[in-house]
Amino acid sequence: MAESEDHLFGVYARAPIEVERGEGSRLYDRSGREYLDFVQGIAVNGLGHANPILIEAMTAQAKKLWHVSNIFTIPGQAELAGKLCAASFADQVFFTNSGTEAVECALKLARKYHAAKGHDERIDIIGFQGAFHGRTYAAVTAAGNQTYLEGFGPRLPGFVNVSLDDHDAIRAAAEAPTAAAILVEPVQGEGGARALTDAELQMLRDLCDQNGLLLIFDEIQCGMGRTGKLWAYEHSGVAPDVMCIAKALGGGFPIGACLATRDAASGMVVGSHGSTFGGNPLAMAVGIAAFDEISKPELLENVVKVSGYLKQQLEGLKQTWPDMIDDVRGKGLLVGIKLKPNNREMMTLARENGLLVAGGGENCIRMLPALNITEADAREALDRLEKTFAVVREKAKETA
Ligand SMILES: *Cc1c(COP(=O)(O)O)cnc(C)c1O
Repeated sequence: MAESEDHLFGVYARAPIEVERGEGSRLYDRSGREYLDFVQGIAVNGLGHANPILIEAMTAQAKKLWHVSNIFTIPGQAELAGKLCAASFADQVFFTNSGTEAVECALKLARKYHAAKGHDERIDIIGFQGAFHGRTYAAVTAAGNQTYLEGFGPRLPGFVNVSLDDHDAIRAAAEAPTAAAILVEPVQGEGGARALTDAELQMLRDLCDQNGLLLIFDEIQCGMGRTGKLWAYEHSGVAPDVMCIAKALGGGFPIGACLATRDAASGMVVGSHGSTFGGNPLAMAVGIAAFDEISKPELLENVVKVSGYLKQQLEGLKQTWPDMIDDVRGKGLLVGIKLKPNNREMMTLARENGLLVAGGGENCIRMLPALNITEADAREALDRLEKTFAVVREKAKETA
């Protein structure tokens, strides 16, 4: 690296490339070397790098107004909230700057909902193994991933973590008199691109209805067109009471949102929550432009088309490279490839072959390309992946 990172917290295991600029599905480093970007900021740049429509929205707003406090009406908030509600189950929205803040808002909303109805004993948030909800204390406690909890002191009270496969445990947790809400990703992202079945989502909905709990979907990664529908929950027909979104919502600009029905949000009265930067004018301007593009039927059709192609090709590769691919999973352009060789090593070698992919739980690599990616670029990515497989197979032979 040209500059030392000595003055930065060492919390990231960074790939040693010095990225300089991006264009669509391509990323270039300082030496001009080109990469196919199938990470896209981990499903953030839904429209790829340097999208001209987003650049225009951003620069136009930058010349007008950057920031005012939420004690004033902020331009664009009502408009973007209106669009999100018209396109979903929700009636009301709270804007945040990140995904985990949207989760934080949802968790506070859930407890406040019950407290406002005279049940302040209802505090338990039921979360699932393999989940990821971000890095606040509440979010890491809800997801229960030991690695992210280690050394941070006692867990917050009022969180229950269960296996998605243990239906008895889920039922017991939901029937507890202290239960408040179920928090789940319809398609687990970091956990390894695990898509919940319609039956699983329906079971969670039923448990919430029978026991008076709120159902919270974390669609921070799987929402905003990623699965080929605007919201992942639309595939199942099971709607939540609350939903967290972020990542692609701003097309690369930091923004998150907590969406809720009017009833679920009924406890969130004046003074109960707030944010300095949440819903700022720049985020709203870019968010509106990104939403208008991503919600277009043509864009969603492209996700269905290219993801179908990728899935079919990867199933083929699973046959020709049985020593590499164990399983192909995920939904839409949230593609998980469960590998036989180590996923971290594969990511490094793929990068050396010009393909950037993300890691994931259960030894997966994830492909999270721009939603407007072409089939030709998907083909190119598969070629680079196969080249990488060939390298790994050769290495395995040498050591055998
Ligand atoms: C990325 C992610 C988060 C956290 O979002 P941040 O913006 O990093 O706080 C939460 N939930 C899911 C499903 C995510 O993929």
